[in-house]
Amino acid sequence: MALVPFEIGIVGCGVAGQAAASFLADAGHRVTVLERFEQPHPVGAGLLLQPTGLAVLRALGLERDALSAGARIDGLLGENQWGIRVIDLAYCDLHPAAFGLGIRRSDLFDLLRRRLLAAGARLVPGVEIVDVEREGARAVALDRKAGRHGPFDLLVVADGTHSALRQRVFPRARAPLYPWGCICATVPDPLASGAVRLLRQRFADTTTMMGILPVAPDAVTMFWSLRTRDLGPERPLDLEAVRQEALALWPEAASTIERAVSGGEFSRATYRHVALPRSSEGPVVFVGDAAHGTSPQLGQGANLGLLDAHALARSLAEAGDLAQAMELFSRRRGASNRFYRSASHLLTPFFQSDSVPLAILRDLLLRQACQTPIVRPMLTGVLAGLRRGWLSAESLDTDGQYPL
Ligand SMILES: Cc1cc2nc3c(=O)[nH]c(=O)nc-3n(C[C@H](O)[C@H](O)[C@H](O)COP(=O)(O)OP(=O)(O)OC[C@H]3O[C@@H](n4cnc5c(N)ncnc54)[C@H](O)[C@@H]3O)c2cc1C
Repeated sequence: MALVPFEIGIVGCGVAGQAAASFLADAGHRVTVLERFEQPHPVGAGLLLQPTGLAVLRALGLERDALSAGARIDGLLGENQWGIRVIDLAYCDLHPAAFGLGIRRSDLFDLLRRRLLAAGARLVPGVEIVDVEREGARAVALDRKAGRHGPFDLLVVADGTHSALRQRVFPRARAPLYPWGCICATVPDPLASGAVRLLRQRFADTTTMMGILPVAPDAVTMFWSLRTRDLGPERPLDLEAVRQEALALWPEAASTIERAVSGGEFSRATYRHVALPRSSEGPVVFVGDAAHGTSPQLGQGANLGLLDAHALARSLAEAGDLAQAMELFSRRRGASNRFYRSASHLLTPFFQSDSVPLAILRDLLLRQACQTPIVRPMLTGVLAGLRRGWLSAESLDTDGQYPL
């Protein structure tokens, strides 16, 4: 194979970077992962893996361990402040065996980190990469202390939604912050693996929203929507206000709310709407949130990052040279990434904005759509990560799994 072994640098030891490191090291490339944290760790609480992301974990040999760490999710139930069902989607509408998986970020992180080390990738912690330089056809990563890393035949940028390298490589890239973000915390919940396992949301107008996602047999993650301006690291969180508003919105969730607020270990999350002119520039390619970050309204970001990682390794394996590999990668991932970025962006103001009339539209239209037999499976397909664009979608295979 013409491209083996490549010298590959990966910036960022997150979901996309770790998965890419494992696939690329498995393929025989020499892989170095550059991570800013001295002790690499995930930021945030729990997330929902779709059949797409689970397929990538299966390809990495991690699916079984992920399934035992996480909590199987059968669907999504969103209710308004009066308890009226607005969103009601079930994976079984796609295939009786289909499901999602709620998982703690720390559990997913540990699985992926062990996997990348077992694959032979080298992890270099404590280096914050701030720029990229070209050295002929290769790329050198420069860290904040003027250290140089490389040269690499390929530099994979996976430094997340607040990427420092995006603007350096693509000065015209856009990545505005969303005006709303959220806080989240994982708390013990003995009922997390009860008979009905759902990602549940409760919302009132467009300024108040809470979610509860089972992420382990005995734990759930609570999400609470807040304005981005209230999420700065210097702003103290008013957890008593969160407690009172959340209890008023969702009294039945009192035990989760009380545990989360008394634990006080909320992480803060802000998100960006990222648009790059293209996914690569010479020997530098962007994957994951660095390339197509968006709001988590459709719960796809980690899944898209995992799919990027798989597609990148496959494209390198199939291509005769780097330019062809980048072209193949962009063709494989471009349409789906663009769809989910745009669809999340369109949907977000209906759940997180100051446009209160949008809540009325949301409650009427989404409720109607979820009750319409032809539309409902299409919406479930969006949730399951199956869309390839506005006009095309993929299907699960005969076992109810996503075919990679
Ligand atoms: C509240 C919330 C809920 C979400 N829920 C879901 C969900 O249910 N399902 C889902 O699929 N997705 C979800 N997402 C999105 C998901 O978290 C992201 O899409 C995913 O983590 C992106 O992975 P990544 O590897 O691209 O970036 P990240 O996971 O952010 O990793 C980036 C890595 O790069 C490192 N880094 C950053 N800058 C530098 C630098 N300059 N030098 C070196 N290293 C650097 C960071 O420390 C980090 O380790 C959610 C996001 C939020 C905020």
